Amino acid sequence: MSRIAYVNGRYAPFADAAVHIEDRGYQFADGVYEVIAVRDGRLADLEPHLDRLDRSLSELRMETAMSRGALAVVLEEIVWRNRVANGIVYLQMTRGVARRDHAFPDDCRISIVVTARNAPPRPAAIVERGVRVVTVPDIRWKRCDIKSISLLPNILAKQKAKEAGAYEAWMVDEDDRVTEGSSTNAWIVDRAGDLITRHLDNAILAGVTRMAVGDLAMKQQRRLVERPFTLGEAEAASEAFLTSTTSSVTPVVQINDVQVGAGVPGPVTQALRNLYDAHLSGR
Ligand code: PMP
Repeated sequence: MSRIAYVNGRYAPFADAAVHIEDRGYQFADGVYEVIAVRDGRLADLEPHLDRLDRSLSELRMETAMSRGALAVVLEEIVWRNRVANGIVYLQMTRGVARRDHAFPDDCRISIVVTARNAPPRPAAIVERGVRVVTVPDIRWKRCDIKSISLLPNILAKQKAKEAGAYEAWMVDEDDRVTEGSSTNAWIVDRAGDLITRHLDNAILAGVTRMAVGDLAMKQQRRLVERPFTLGEAEAASEAFLTSTTSSVTPVVQINDVQVGAGVPGPVTQALRNLYDAHLSGR
């Protein structure tokens, strides 16, 4: 079955789906995106994703002509047309096509691309044994709260992790504090069993998974502390994990060469993972 993409009002086979060479996404990375999980054919946590999209657009002064309802119809249609049961939808909006000039064009129509694909189940070892992360300096700009398609530092960080045989790179700021992963939020569990993850500000993306996991933790009467934590604290934590739409709740058992806790996925992480899984399935 050939994959179908939505491009500016049309559904087209991948081979025919294209945007203009002067699209500002292509030339300037002048755009935003969302990745939404599909579970049993249903879009998970759609509203918070669309809320974050609206915020990213408005922070970049981009106005889309598409209503939330119309966009939701396209997202569902693309899931259906691609027969996605469990996977992801990718949605990208750029400032549109215009002659290359840094300043906003006077008259521009937002370009919209939506794709979807099934995702194979993640290897059981990731959940059962946990993963290793490496650390890299956080060299990003000061608006990491915007889900921009401009991802060069994140790409370089992930490549570093890949070359080091690690699952993810955690980015560390000038004060030795972990901000987040290249495409995930970072968490630790301290010796008292409290959850710690960096507070929301311009230094990190407000992960939809982060929010869902935080809510689930609080429902379990677990204390959630939103504050920066240092690399040293993370190394001394009893558990660590990362969250994202594509990584769900993934245990972190090693940071660089330092083992975290017992070096195996901890009970708090595992409990949260199960709760999050049930949340995604709408159970
Ligand atoms: N931080 C960054 C930098 C990301 O790219 C992502 C994934 N888009 C996340 C955190 C996690 O966000 P979410 O839980 O909404 O997927």
